[in-house]
Formats: sequence, C-alpha cells, structure tokens
Amino acid sequence: MPVVPRMSVVPEMVVPEMKAGRVALPVTLTGLALMHAAPAATWLPIVRRRLPALSGVGDPGHVALTFDDGPDPRSTPRFLDELRRLGCQATFFVLGEALARHPDLGRAIVAEGHELGVHGWRHINALIRWPGRVTEEIGLAADLVWSVTGERPLWYRPPYGVLTLESLVAVRREALRPVLWTAWGKDWTASATPASVLATLTSRPLGGATLLLHDCDRATDGDRWRSALGALPRLVDRCHAMGLRVGPLRDHGVAGSPDEEKRAGHESSLVR
Ligand SMILES: [Zn+2]
Repeated sequence: MPVVPRMSVVPEMVVPEMKAGRVALPVTLTGLALMHAAPAATWLPIVRRRLPALSGVGDPGHVALTFDDGPDPRSTPRFLDELRRLGCQATFFVLGEALARHPDLGRAIVAEGHELGVHGWRHINALIRWPGRVTEEIGLAADLVWSVTGERPLWYRPPYGVLTLESLVAVRREALRPVLWTAWGKDWTASATPASVLATLTSRPLGGATLLLHDCDRATDGDRWRSALGALPRLVDRCHAMGLRVGPLRDHGVAGSPDEEKRAGHESSLVR
C-alpha cells in the first residue's frame, strides 16, 4: 500500500499570527500557554501513579512490553528476532519520520504479530511546538501507520511523556488512547547494561506493569539499544516464573478499558 500522508510536514517555523498575537494579547497568550502546559506534568512518576489508565496499569496477570523511537533497520530486526525466539509480542511506538523511511520494517513488525502505536512524527517535546503542529503530526503519523500496516493504531505515547491539551484533543480526534508507562529500563543511558535495565524494570511490581524500552538509539545513533535487547531473555523468564504473561498493550486490559471491571480491586496493590 503506498505511503501517502494526508498533508506534508513543513519545517518547524515561527507562525506569523502567533508572533502578532503575542504582542497584542500577552495576557490571553499567557493563559493559553498555561493551559497548554498544564497536563505536561503527566510524565512525573507521582502524577502517573495517580493516573493508572494513563500509566498503562493493566491486568495483574499480564506485563505489557513496549518499545519506543523506532523503527530502525540497524536494531529493530534484532528485537524482532529475539521476541520471536522468546515467543513474545509487544507494542512498538514508532515515529512517523522513521516509519516513512522504513515502511517495510513497519510491516515486518506487524507480520510478527506485534502492534504499532504512535510516538509522533518527530521526537520533539510538545511544550515547545507551535499550536497546530502536534495535532498535524499526530494525524500524519496515525495515517501513516494505517497506510503502511492496514491497521488503525490504538495507542499514542508522546515523546518524553509530555502531553499537552492540544495533544490530548488530537489524540481523541484520532481515536487513539494515550498511554505512558509504569516502569522504564533507563536503557538509553550510556552506562546501561542488560543487568541494570533488568534491575530498573523489576524494581516495581511486574504484574499489570507497562514497561518502556527502546528498540533503537535515536539520541546518539549508537548502540545503546543492546542493553534493552540483552535484558529481554531474563525479563521474560522472570515474568514467566511469576506466572505472568508478556504481550502488547492490546492484550493488557489497560485501566479504564471495558474489561477493567473484571479486575477491580486489584489495582491498589499495583500502584504505589
Ligand atoms: Zn521516545
């Protein structure tokens, strides 16, 4: 299927109307800016713990495995190989600009039974975008996932975990569901090792967790992804030894979803 975004992504630039408005209506724009920034604290652990649906708290017998920032031909295939060997499926939050360059990789991810989520078009903090840009790019990325894979994406995870009012509205318009994470592996750090990634991920209860890893090293173009890849076998073993299933978000029964009632009463023990 051809990859045809609904509109082109123009370079980041100053919007003339905003420049004029900033001079003429400073109070109004200050208010708008505060509204814009208000939900952005969602990435903070204390905020996420109070928002289990947004954190991706799910079925206590399941662990959601998620990978951000790809696809990247240098590393994503390695993750697909390892996940196939381990018999696990996952959710890959892709960037539109990366998927546009490597649509075959997007199709390969879905062909392996994994799902694609939207991580935006480019990896930029929504707080520093001009109004309208985040909306445009979420729509473009969602359309691209649909076009490449034939499947409408279900999930949106913003770069840096920063949600703004605009992105929340855009996500709703695209029928996406925002989801962050309950634990990450800090696999992007220079000192990360498979052991450190595993220890970080498992420092909190695994049952019902949504785990954040990266299937590429977007920040340095290096090979920091190897720490995440190396952590996978022991992570999956640990989960299985605890009787936990490992899979994508679509199988996770995320809080707030229709099947949440089935596990009412379990959640309080998962969020601390
Ligand atoms: Zn990211």
